[in-house]
Amino acid sequence: MTINLLLLGRGSDPASERGVDCPGELPPAADPDLAARAAAAKAALGDRVFVLGHHYQRDEVIAFADVTGDSFKLAQQAAARPQAEAIVFCGVHFMAESADILTGPHQRVVLPDLAAGCSMADMATAEQVEQAFDDLLDAGAAAGTVPVSYMNSSAAIKAFTGRHDGTICTSSNAKRALDWAFGERGGERVLFLPDQHLGRNTAIGELGMTEDDCVVYDPRRPGGGLAPRQLREAKMILWRGHCSVHGRFTRASVDEVRARVPGVTVLVHPECQREVVLGADLVGSTEYIISVVDAAPPGSAFAIGTELNLVRRLATRHPDKTIVFLDRTVCFCSTMNRIDMPHLVWALESLARGEIVNQITVDPDVATYARKALDQMLALP
Ligand code: SF4
Repeated sequence: MTINLLLLGRGSDPASERGVDCPGELPPAADPDLAARAAAAKAALGDRVFVLGHHYQRDEVIAFADVTGDSFKLAQQAAARPQAEAIVFCGVHFMAESADILTGPHQRVVLPDLAAGCSMADMATAEQVEQAFDDLLDAGAAAGTVPVSYMNSSAAIKAFTGRHDGTICTSSNAKRALDWAFGERGGERVLFLPDQHLGRNTAIGELGMTEDDCVVYDPRRPGGGLAPRQLREAKMILWRGHCSVHGRFTRASVDEVRARVPGVTVLVHPECQREVVLGADLVGSTEYIISVVDAAPPGSAFAIGTELNLVRRLATRHPDKTIVFLDRTVCFCSTMNRIDMPHLVWALESLARGEIVNQITVDPDVATYARKALDQMLALP
């Protein structure tokens, strides 16, 4: 997978989930007053604006967030602020879509840079997923298949999931989602979108399945690269998608850090490859990683396999603990990093002038079914 790097705030990537240009006269990045301008615009807006900051955002942007969290927590927080006319989402496109779906019609969701997409979400388009469903129909495997889609997917994929009576999941509740799909929902197999690693780690690591229970559907190959019999016999049909940040960690990086940092606890996100999870001591969502580090006694040592902005922030917050990045290679999420101070200042100052820029809106029909899948997640036992 290649990530097309666009100049910040310029150009478009029609192959991606966002596929839109990002207009606007941005202040220069070298402007020494950016922080003061953002503060002034935010103060002028008062309760009319609510700024959400994902854990993977830059420090200087996080400083202006009213609340920080993972994608699901932030969407919930947006929904809990009906008095805010504008939600400025410092995160990526699929998160802003979820916020638009969950907030009221009087609220506007703004993504400061429309080029802030997610390479994982881009790996499953609506057309590809409809084709996969046709392949399941042809194989006689559609009736028993329940779609379970990770929060990190476009609104169109969430709507597909809702139309087929499936559920959304997060990295915190993926096991509960699969238990529901195979239990109460009565599924024979799950089509897990779009992160193969979260699906595999949950199915094998938490539900006790084997590699033989899982097949990988490759949307770039006819029939997903699978025979009809493989589709019928699989319990987990994993979409061939991954996070371009977490997917970079390797088992070698786990072995290297154990040799480099004696007594280290290796703590990774379930978007990592299976071999990395098997080599780690602990695995869990972003919120879990933060809670483990926060609760550890002074002197603890952690090697963390998740996005670098968060790892650095944890290291700064806990000077009494040794906190290192799992891999020596710098590994920011390039699309998360597109939200920078010039874009934030531009979005806030525009709002303060009464001008809504970079609004994210989801088509009402798509939103209806996406909401159904999101509500199913909220109703998980
Ligand atoms: S860290 Fe991975 S899953 Fe998260 S926004 Fe970046 S590419 Fe997408």
